[in-house]
Amino acid sequence: MDLKLKDKVALVTGGSKGIGLGIVRSLITEGVKVANVNRSEAEGIALQNEYAANGQECFFIQGDLTDIDACRNAVEQTQQRFGRIDLLINNAGVNDGVGLEDGPDAFVQSLQKNLVHYYAMVHFALDALKVSRGCIINIGSKVCETGQGGTSGYAASKGGINGLTREWAVDLAPHGVRVNAVLPAETWTPLYEKCLAAMPNPEAAKAEIERLVPLGHRFTTIEELADMVVFLASPRSSHTTGQIIFVDGGYTHFDRKCTVTSDVSSFGAAGKS
Ligand code: NAP
Repeated sequence: MDLKLKDKVALVTGGSKGIGLGIVRSLITEGVKVANVNRSEAEGIALQNEYAANGQECFFIQGDLTDIDACRNAVEQTQQRFGRIDLLINNAGVNDGVGLEDGPDAFVQSLQKNLVHYYAMVHFALDALKVSRGCIINIGSKVCETGQGGTSGYAASKGGINGLTREWAVDLAPHGVRVNAVLPAETWTPLYEKCLAAMPNPEAAKAEIERLVPLGHRFTTIEELADMVVFLASPRSSHTTGQIIFVDGGYTHFDRKCTVTSDVSSFGAAGKS
């Protein structure tokens, strides 16, 4: 299927590793020119050079997105480099474990790491997206639906992202700009690996989580996440907006019983007689 994305310009936050890196790689495979804003210069430049060697664009913009000026700079540099922005992918974030005991200052900092830059990026890219009749994709998390415990800042941010996805879809429909969210649950990334490494028995914890994923009893791959993002970003999704799409192997919504028995449908058999 031709996704009709060749020569479009995408600005991706946190594209140097994990889900963001998967998105960058899938976009470039479709012929998209990418700008990647991230903290680590070494990682960003290495990725930029890797693609430049093949004549492809993965333009690195150094910045910490908790700094609003870095958000403004990322948009400005993307426009200077490519002259347009068609796709904005808000992805960077961290489950930072700021809970009820940590207090309001830590809570606000967590919102800055996970929510405020999503708004800032859209605010600064607004005119460019209206001109291109472009598309915004926000990466959220199942945590805002399920709760996790001990992570108020992250949960509030991800809930905010769902709300803003629908709000911006309404705001921008008259301009032909589509806005959607993609929500992972258990995707294998450096961030996830780091979270498990802090547990007493990381291997056992990993196996336990895999058991809970109904489809395939495994983690979602970054490629599976990225391919949904790229499809939503393409004109092949031209009438899809304001949607919150879970790419999670059924983790968030399926009947809990299906994670403990292989034949959950037999549960209803008694009702037939
Ligand atoms: P990851 O492996 O840590 O990758 C995130 C990338 O974003 C890193 O390159 C990181 O840079 C960058 N980043 C984070 N905060 C930044 C900031 N303030 N400024 C600039 N760059 C920043 O994380 P991931 O697992 O791919 O997560 C990506 C998104 O998916 C996040 O929004 C997360 O909440 C969401 N998510 C992931 C999962 C999962 O199972 N993995 C589940 C639910 C939701 P550094 O290397 O400098 O930190």
